[in-house]
Amino acid sequence: MRVLITGSGQDSSILTFLHKIRQDDVTVYTRRRSDEMSDQMKLVLSKLKTMELNNVNFVYGDLTDYQNLFNVVANGKYDIIYHMGAQSFVPPSYENPISTHMVNELSAYAILEAVRKHSPETKVFLALSSEVFGLPRQIPQTLDTPFDPVSPYAISKTALAYISEYYRRVWKLKVYDFITFNHESELRGPEFVTMKIVKNLVENGKVTLGNVNAMKDWGYAPEYMAIIANTVMHNEPGRYILCTGELASVKDFVEYVISKVGGRYYIDPSLFRPIDANRMTCNKYQAPVIPRFTWRDVADIMIKFVKEGKTTFDEYLIKLRQEHEI
Ligand code: GDP
Repeated sequence: MRVLITGSGQDSSILTFLHKIRQDDVTVYTRRRSDEMSDQMKLVLSKLKTMELNNVNFVYGDLTDYQNLFNVVANGKYDIIYHMGAQSFVPPSYENPISTHMVNELSAYAILEAVRKHSPETKVFLALSSEVFGLPRQIPQTLDTPFDPVSPYAISKTALAYISEYYRRVWKLKVYDFITFNHESELRGPEFVTMKIVKNLVENGKVTLGNVNAMKDWGYAPEYMAIIANTVMHNEPGRYILCTGELASVKDFVEYVISKVGGRYYIDPSLFRPIDANRMTCNKYQAPVIPRFTWRDVADIMIKFVKEGKTTFDEYLIKLRQEHEI
């Protein structure tokens, strides 16, 4: 298969690994950075190198270089495109709403217009987010819970939901969109609360946090990417939802990590968000596959990585591959 993945953060790197071990032809569309490559992609490429599978094609471009993105898609005739690249961190979106929309939303139009005109059989995956539910009107959320976004990031993801629906309904394109709840791993960037907690506690014995009462549902990103890839490969286009069904607060998470590695946490009110999307969890029975890893497993995996440099994503995905599950 020919696969295009946008972005090079946690999810893009995991999908790159997952498709390379299937021997697929993988192209990654990402920004050229001064330090060459994201840490996540560097780690994935080093693992692939040991298997002589590191022949990943990189196309450098910005997601807001719409013409370039359009051309890459139009010329590539891909079987699957995972549009993972995004401004994916909520806080900066409050200060940069316009660029958040330019990166997250308009790039999807560039991809889908190219698919519509040049390769209408291509399957396209769009990453929505539990943030679309904002201050959720129902707990747990379901596929029928109304959208209620409370940040420019969440509004951009809500727009993607409508864009996705539009291309499915009007142009009959094979678009898959997933409302995924928080998913973390040893490849998570340190700006997200889970990695911030684990890294700071292991390395400095302390961490300073904002709203520790926020409740989230944290799954394991490699498991989510495997479920997504399988759904895109084998199920019908449409909207899907994916969570573990287990709600935990940031306080629960930090206290669990402290119980394993020691240390203390502090609160700094300047780290609070204008509004926090809270109590985000879904009806797990609506997921295409119910995830097995829950937040404590994820914390353990992250601690192992930060303390010992031990990765889990590669062994886990290779095992799924051997069992013909991806
Ligand atoms: P998000 O759910 O995609 O925004 O993922 P994050 O990991 O950034 O945030 C998860 C939750 O942790 C949010 O509700 C934050 O308000 C809360 N939180 C509390 N303290 C912190 C902190 O110091 N950093 C981050 N990133 N989030 C924090």
